[in-house]
Amino acid sequence: MSRPVRVRFAPSPTGPLHIGGVRTALFNYLFAKKHNGVFYLRIEDTDQNRFVPGAEQYIFEALEWLGIAPSETVGKNEKFGPYRQSERKPLYKQYADQLVNSGWAYYAFDSAEALDAHRKQHEAEGKTFIYNWHNREKLDTSLVISNEETEKRIAAGETYVIRFKTPVNETLHLHDSIRGDLKFETNLLDDKVLFKSDGMPTYHLANIVDDHLMETSHVIRGEEWLPSMPLHSLLYKAFGWEAPEFAHLPLILKPIGNGKLSKRDGDKMGFPVFPLEWKSEEGVSSGYREKGFFPEAVVNFLALLGWNDGTEQELFSLEELTQKFDLNRVHKAGAKFDPEKNKWFNHQYLQKQSDESLAKAFAPTLFEKGITIENNKLVRIVSSIKERANFVSEFWDLADYFFVAPTSYDEKAAKNWKEDTPNLMQQLISVLENVGEFSSANIETIVKDWMTNNEIGMGKVMQPFRLSLVGALKGPHLFDIVELIGKEETIKRLEKAIATL
Ligand code: GLU
Repeated sequence: MSRPVRVRFAPSPTGPLHIGGVRTALFNYLFAKKHNGVFYLRIEDTDQNRFVPGAEQYIFEALEWLGIAPSETVGKNEKFGPYRQSERKPLYKQYADQLVNSGWAYYAFDSAEALDAHRKQHEAEGKTFIYNWHNREKLDTSLVISNEETEKRIAAGETYVIRFKTPVNETLHLHDSIRGDLKFETNLLDDKVLFKSDGMPTYHLANIVDDHLMETSHVIRGEEWLPSMPLHSLLYKAFGWEAPEFAHLPLILKPIGNGKLSKRDGDKMGFPVFPLEWKSEEGVSSGYREKGFFPEAVVNFLALLGWNDGTEQELFSLEELTQKFDLNRVHKAGAKFDPEKNKWFNHQYLQKQSDESLAKAFAPTLFEKGITIENNKLVRIVSSIKERANFVSEFWDLADYFFVAPTSYDEKAAKNWKEDTPNLMQQLISVLENVGEFSSANIETIVKDWMTNNEIGMGKVMQPFRLSLVGALKGPHLFDIVELIGKEETIKRLEKAIATL
């Protein structure tokens, strides 16, 4: 690698950052860390019509939450600042001029109406209008008038654009780190607009100028930018600048069917496509953070969308990813998005949390319900149910019986409540009343001794006992439940079951 690694994430703040954009940011982050380079973030807001308030802040917050914040960006180590393209506006004109002067670009004065008429006429003839080599000399451009005439029209305030003059009859041989060698025919390209008379550059010009000025070594971005690669590499050539290496990441595909993952897929199947919740006039879109995903889990599943380390390993910490990530192991083919697998990742990361921190996360739910409980008990409750949970938000449904007596009993389970059950449960109450040290192990020994001594079958006691406490035949080790609920409450629930069932 010849140049020091400097890579960027260059989103346009046109709405909430899509999960695909987050994956692009992540791969850039990993690549930078792997090569002791810099990951910076540049805001590409030259298209003021598409500007959405709050979108920029959202991007920063999302990357911060995921633990992959850039080391240079707006307001942070602005070594090559400003990092917002709208604030770099005065800088681009000279580069557009440079291309005009060297013959790589030209002025075009065609009005929107004129272009529309050309388009319609082509359509009528069954053709597509492309602004390029085959008609640019028949259009209203500086290529067919004198320099004086061009200057006069500009000075008179005519609106214009500056277009790239794509070379004719060339085959471009380009290289993409993921896709290998690629060939593009210049005759198929159109003469893209680089600059407009309102003084704003378009994406293409600003992107290349900034990648150069900010010393970008690698451009790692989504596959949707692959069609721009020939123009971008020609722009580097036109400026006489060393081009960065390109790597176009595979698309993220719908869980079912073909095509790119969209917000609609998420809405239909009930999973977020945004890292954080996004509120707009159109409503609220859910986010991974608000859904209760751990940022580590999101990073982990995103890393595997299009990459693996060549083994079967699926769980990677961010630290591990920064060591193992390799562009050579990124696939070309689209990566299917699997919402069920995402939950599996969250499940795995939930198990890795300490019981104390999970108890802390669960506590507000209890507080809202007016339930108070000693912390060490709560920690044990959480520890006993977390194995069944994908999210902390599921804790209440998995553990409610620790805090409130069942209000109903599972019908199927209630079939185990036989004629002699009330009598047995009454006897069990007397046994429990006499237990001294009310610990799970001690209660278990005493209850089991009582059953053995009286030749009472396990099933006859344990199932109705669990049903009385939980309301169903679910939950962790029964005697743990008994201890955590406490003697008094256990007896109360047994009495209630005898009276009800
Ligand atoms: N501003 C472009 C975007 O919104 C950046 C594309 C690129 O990385 O070159 O994705």
